[in-house]
Amino acid sequence: MKAEANVKYSIVVPLYNEVDNVPPLYSKITEVMRRMRESYEIIFVDDGSTDETFKVLAEIYDKDGHIVALRLRRNFGQTAALKAGFDLATGEIIISLDGDLQHDPEEIPLFIAKIEEGYDIVSGWRQERTDAWLTRRLPSCIANWTMSKLSGVELHDFGTTFKAYRREIIQDIQLYGELHRFIPALASWSGATVAEIPIKDSPRQNGKSNYGLSRTIRVLLDLISIKFLLDYSTKPLHFFGPLGLIGTSLGTILGVVLVFKKLILGEEIMLQHGPLLFLATLLILTGIQFLSIGLMGEMVARTYYESQKKPIYAVREIKSRRKKSVGAPEQTVKDLSIGAGASFQ
Ligand code: UDP
Ligand code: MG
Repeated sequence: MKAEANVKYSIVVPLYNEVDNVPPLYSKITEVMRRMRESYEIIFVDDGSTDETFKVLAEIYDKDGHIVALRLRRNFGQTAALKAGFDLATGEIIISLDGDLQHDPEEIPLFIAKIEEGYDIVSGWRQERTDAWLTRRLPSCIANWTMSKLSGVELHDFGTTFKAYRREIIQDIQLYGELHRFIPALASWSGATVAEIPIKDSPRQNGKSNYGLSRTIRVLLDLISIKFLLDYSTKPLHFFGPLGLIGTSLGTILGVVLVFKKLILGEEIMLQHGPLLFLATLLILTGIQFLSIGLMGEMVARTYYESQKKPIYAVREIKSRRKKSVGAPEQTVKDLSIGAGASFQ
């Protein structure tokens, strides 16, 4: 049964057809967590497996009070499965890892130690990878490099799920598509501090990987959208506007020159400057399009932030003597509970 009170550590594991991996994974995690001597929960998310994964989970759940077993209605993908687990997690620190034994639970304490140094996110770095070179390592190398340049977060390995987070950071982040590997970049927007530790990368023993080369293309598209979201989601017109202005200005100048030639110099525009006329029209039209897309974007952004009351900032801490502080009510509660010495075990 799930403990009522919040726990210290939550381990989140997404599972898709991992029936053979669940029992050994469960015993390894449990062994490690017992050694930590703190309260913990293990959240197994069955992402619509078609094998017996959930049956095995249910058996483990019956025996062990630290387990939460969540079963999604269908296969929603790793990102959604992780998010489902994060939403359920009550731990102060949340650790996510793959359910295929490619991540060694023995390394969990290293992540926790690093978080306790004060970082908000600790990401694993597979220094020596075991995956195929051409289809997996090369694309991921390029993606990691681009990603760190674009996002300004200096990580070597965005791809791995083996990560630890403070709960308030991860639960605030909305995840879509395949975005789970960009959490550090998204979180760094709100000022989260990110650290990296080397981890082992063991080959998969049972079952098969769910991904291949096609993932690279999707990751690339995600990269573009992340870059856009990080830099322009509150001001889309700043992205489309310059393109629009340049287009319309160039087009207008060209147009004026052509009108001058026609009216003053009496030149035959269609015959002599046909392509230029075409270019002028094209520039003006696309320019207006870009400006309109930018303005539409502004409206969408406003609807997005206002309808959901999404803050355009993130608060780390507030010191205030007001009874109820805006923005960071949890902070006060947390401080109080520490003061009262409320949490043992
Ligand atoms: N996974 C999932 N839903 C999916 C695909 C994968 O929950 O639709 C889980 C899978 O069970 C594993 C983790 O995500 O625990 C990583 O998947 P996989 O090993 O296939 O990816 P790779 O290690 O090859 O990147
Ligand atoms: Mg794997």
